[in-house]
Amino acid sequence: MSFKVVIDQEGCTQCGLCYSDECPEVFVEGPDGTSEIASKYQEGSPDNGNVPDDLKECVQKAVDVCPVSVISISS
Ligand code: SF4
Repeated sequence: MSFKVVIDQEGCTQCGLCYSDECPEVFVEGPDGTSEIASKYQEGSPDNGNVPDDLKECVQKAVDVCPVSVISISS
């Protein structure tokens, strides 16, 4: 099973916590420092992903740590 992850990239402050610290398996640094979904999990665009359930804990940590709350999860 998998779940959906969306990054509101316009709100991302490029702090790097999601891709450098909490969940580099799923989040990567884009060209200008904005967070993107790793290419293997992307669905159509860099701000949209479909991620296997075994990475949910890691993504949830990124959701919790993001200082501007721009990462969201849905099933
Ligand atoms: S933690 Fe949030 S603000 Fe920081 S890089 Fe990731 S998405 Fe952007």
